[in-house]
Amino acid sequence: MKEIVDRMRRGEETFFACAKKNLPEIFTEKDIDDAWARLRRFASYVKAAFPETESTGGIIDSPVQPIGEAKIALERAENAVIPGNLYVKRDDSLAVCGSLKARGGIYTVFKHAEEIALKHGMLNLTDDYAILHSETFRELFSRCRISVGSTGNLGMSIGLSGKKLGFDVTVYMSEEAKEWKKNRLREAGVNVHEFGGDYTSALKLARSDAETDPDTYFIDDEDSADLFLGYSAACRTLPFQLAEQGITVDEKHPLFVYLPCGVGGGPGGITFGLKKVFGEHVHCFFGEPTQMPCMALAMALGRSDVSVYDIGLGGGTVADGLACSSPSRLAYDVMAGMLDGCFTVTDKHALGLTALLYETSGIKAEPSSCVALGGVGKIPYEIHNAENASHLVWLTGGSLVPDEEWRKIGLSV
Ligand SMILES: *Cc1c(COP(=O)(O)O)cnc(C)c1O
Repeated sequence: MKEIVDRMRRGEETFFACAKKNLPEIFTEKDIDDAWARLRRFASYVKAAFPETESTGGIIDSPVQPIGEAKIALERAENAVIPGNLYVKRDDSLAVCGSLKARGGIYTVFKHAEEIALKHGMLNLTDDYAILHSETFRELFSRCRISVGSTGNLGMSIGLSGKKLGFDVTVYMSEEAKEWKKNRLREAGVNVHEFGGDYTSALKLARSDAETDPDTYFIDDEDSADLFLGYSAACRTLPFQLAEQGITVDEKHPLFVYLPCGVGGGPGGITFGLKKVFGEHVHCFFGEPTQMPCMALAMALGRSDVSVYDIGLGGGTVADGLACSSPSRLAYDVMAGMLDGCFTVTDKHALGLTALLYETSGIKAEPSSCVALGGVGKIPYEIHNAENASHLVWLTGGSLVPDEEWRKIGLSV
């Protein structure tokens, strides 16, 4: 692994396979079931509060779609042969906040709201949760504070969903956070605390402010089981979506999934869920920017208490959603022994992939998302039956990005 860490230190792209082991389970299938049941209880509320979710029955989910032309362009650009077919999962277009954070973040807010409502005797588990979309409940939740640290998208998901329920929400934004995201939150009535430091220090400040106030519920991106399990519930609809696309996943037909990784909660939760459903037939890989490869570093060194600054990295990245210098301990603990591999992508490469995806498929996905595309041509496909593989690139953000921002990174939208 020294060679890999040396490559990372030099800011070069890398790919490596992670060691597989059977470690004690932190979560079980029952935890996913519990999260999924909660999301189903909230579905009628979601339909009432966010009418754009009508078509998915109040479940915040995104489609799977083939991107055949992008595959051809990718093979050419990466000078690689990619066996099998290429698909994207469109979490870049998730309702409410236009990013994958709509899974974990909104789930966490819902779980907190449910606990408060149950405690006050104002809700039963069997009620129609559409009642939560009312002045009575907004008044109840307005007395409760939620705080969170964010590079942008987590703040958007918690801010917009929390505010809709009536919560008093404060978001601590790290230096990467885009102006338009902060403005959008302020317009929704969220308190935006601008913080000139990086994500890890923004989290520290948010955490210590919350500690001084017992009425604040702090959502800790580095250590939240709720966030993690909210993401993992994605595995409850994906098998049906794959079947609709004619994709089989079994011993003869492996599924390769490429996920962009920040602190690791989002991709970790999704990977955990997919491993529960597809077992050894799914192979999951995390992609990170070369300047912020915190999970890759943790996997290479075999421990979670690492910082990319320790190896002289931590420079800025266009992949703002992935600008995390240390991984989530929880995500690392669940992924260790389970994750198949890690890869890193330079900013230049990430921008090239963002343009490639847009030009071949019309999809506008944030550079953070497109980092995942960088893994498709990198993996040595030695796995049994790789020629029958399906490749799923998990796009994670983009639909709310204003056109002006796309033009800044060279897309002619
Ligand atoms: C947050 C985020 C990720 C990664 O999620 P983590 O839980 O931080 O690993 C990926 N893509 C986008 C667009 C994000 O906002």
